[in-house]
Amino acid sequence: MMTQEEVLTFVLNSDELPTLSAVASRLISITAEEDTTISDIASLISKDISLSTKILKVVNSSFYSFPQQIGTIHQAASILGTNAVRSLVLSFSFLKPDKQKKDGFDYATFWEKSLSEAVASRMLMTALEAEDSEEGFIAGLLQNLGVLILAKAFPAEYKKVDQAVADEELDRSEAEIKYIGADHCYIGSEVVRNWGFPASIVEPLRYHHEPHKLQTKDQKLKLLCEVVCLSGIISRVYSAKKPDELVGQFKSQAKRRLQLTEKKLEDFLDRVHTEVEEIGKFFDIKIQNQKSIAEVLQIANAELSVLNLSYEQMNRSLVEKTVQLEMLTAELEKKNKLLERLANVDGLTEAYNHRYFQSFLDREISRAERNDYTVSVVMVDIDNFKKFNDLHGHQIGDYVLREFADVARSLLREYDLFARYGGEEFVLVLPETKASDGEIVAEKFRSALAEHTFSHERETYHITASFGVASLSPAKESFDKDELISRADSALYESKRKGRNRVTSFSQKKKWFGK
Ligand code: GH3
Ligand code: MG
Ligand code: MG
Repeated sequence: MMTQEEVLTFVLNSDELPTLSAVASRLISITAEEDTTISDIASLISKDISLSTKILKVVNSSFYSFPQQIGTIHQAASILGTNAVRSLVLSFSFLKPDKQKKDGFDYATFWEKSLSEAVASRMLMTALEAEDSEEGFIAGLLQNLGVLILAKAFPAEYKKVDQAVADEELDRSEAEIKYIGADHCYIGSEVVRNWGFPASIVEPLRYHHEPHKLQTKDQKLKLLCEVVCLSGIISRVYSAKKPDELVGQFKSQAKRRLQLTEKKLEDFLDRVHTEVEEIGKFFDIKIQNQKSIAEVLQIANAELSVLNLSYEQMNRSLVEKTVQLEMLTAELEKKNKLLERLANVDGLTEAYNHRYFQSFLDREISRAERNDYTVSVVMVDIDNFKKFNDLHGHQIGDYVLREFADVARSLLREYDLFARYGGEEFVLVLPETKASDGEIVAEKFRSALAEHTFSHERETYHITASFGVASLSPAKESFDKDELISRADSALYESKRKGRNRVTSFSQKKKWFGK
């Protein structure tokens, strides 16, 4: 097992160590010099056109929400300060997801998580109204740089580290020390110290797991370490088995060590996922549908409640839910049938309505065509019903219509259709019935009706009706539904003309030779 110093020497000499871009490393060294001016920094960055463009884009984004447009790097550096500009340059220098080597390390996930930590740190710095909130961004972003360095220098050992962390056996630092000999806090901070990074980055990398161990009088630096630590807790919420515990820890630590109010914390928790998504765009990092913290907690809660059920409980609750569902379905079916009936049935007589008659006849005609049989239609019209109404009143008329429908239904086969065509006109559709049989049905109906006594409130009434029969064998004949109806209608007219209370079948001859 190597000592941590040996591990450090190993990684510093490793080919796998990430390298800083030329601009970033020059920037680090000039910002460390006392007499460097804003102009020096601006002119250094401005030489890299693509970097300058990216920086101007992000400083003009809603993430910064500056009231005025920032047009030049010089302007950006004077408004944001040199530290902030340095942070941005470093951020862009590390966040180049497309250019990362394909070497088995999951850069995309690593930088996505790092970016969310950067955003969380920056938001917390802003909530604390700390100056230099940009320092939060870069320190948050690079806090786990040591993970990347160790994972690349010791790939086999790092698999064991990841496994131990995923199983929640050890925390990451413990696992790294156990399997490699040094943790990412030590390695990350020593590497950036080696690169000449300022204390505002070195120390948070070193102490982001144990901010209380940082010995310094610099309150700003202490705050930064606390903030970076909190950003790490929040990003772990997304992969934790018990995210609610981490959110609880985050809140109590933020209140205790940073004196952040409940309201500010709630606001932070509400917004952090959308801010991450927003800023991801500027670094070309696609954040894969980042959930809100509230959503993560809700999902965990639901999963927990299922986990806590015993097998029998789960079974019982499943059965209950299934029964509930079945009952609902049955009720729905009943309601649907009722609705369907309401749509198809005439309100007064409960006979099928005109619309239903039309579609029923369509269906019957095509069935008759396929199976080569005859369908008959009987038109029925109550005789002198106007007079009946005039004599006995409309209400008695209505009663007669209802009872008329009952008489009709009592005479028909189950698959015959009885419908109200309109007013006191009705229609029968008789499937698989040839014209002569249709005539017999109509005659039976006619005589039953003529003999039927309508009794209503001690009074009795009698009515008659006239009938017209027509048939169609669609496999042999080529006229259509409308023609069939109009033939039944003209036969009915014939019955009326001949004196009512009779049945007439449509005959071609009558059509040819007139009355
Ligand atoms: P015809 O023998 O020639 O068929 O004579 P009619 O009086 O029956 O025929 P007409 O078409 O002149 O009049 C139909 C009457 O049917 C007029 C109307 O008062 C009556 N009627 C139509 N619908 C209803 C209804 O829903 N309720 C009642 N009570 N009467 C109706
Ligand atoms: Mg009529
Ligand atoms: Mg009539």
